[in-house]
Amino acid sequence: MHCPKCNQTSLKPHKFKNTDVVVDVCQRCKGIWFDANELNELLPVASKDLQVPKDAKPTGMTCPKCLVPLEAFSYPQTCVEIDMCSKCNGLWLYKSELKEIKIVRGKLEKKGKLETHAPVAGIKGEALTWVNWAIEKLMKFD
Ligand SMILES: [Zn+2]
Ligand SMILES: [Zn+2]
Repeated sequence: MHCPKCNQTSLKPHKFKNTDVVVDVCQRCKGIWFDANELNELLPVASKDLQVPKDAKPTGMTCPKCLVPLEAFSYPQTCVEIDMCSKCNGLWLYKSELKEIKIVRGKLEKKGKLETHAPVAGIKGEALTWVNWAIEKLMKFD
């Protein structure tokens, strides 16, 4: 696989310390490629089932796997702009961004405000919110 940013540079496998997570790293720009769900395994405060939202903007970079344009958006509940492939759900991040996501979402977790699932938009999202609300109400009468 080639680096989405540097094009000609090949990504090299890299294993995170004390984990089984092996990601692909560019030696030149130090960007990290996460296959779908690899970030979940690495980061306890990651957003599970992360998907490219409808308002994401296409970038000039292409997915190293699918060769379609990566799309940029803010990682949920942070100001970190990330690039993701809507086809394979692969994620392109830099170490500093990974650190920021960890810190910001870690603080939200302590306050009990962390959303681990990406918000679902539209009627489906409203239905899910209602179901969650109803479950919460029912639990209180137990
Ligand atoms: Zn690179
Ligand atoms: Zn892809």
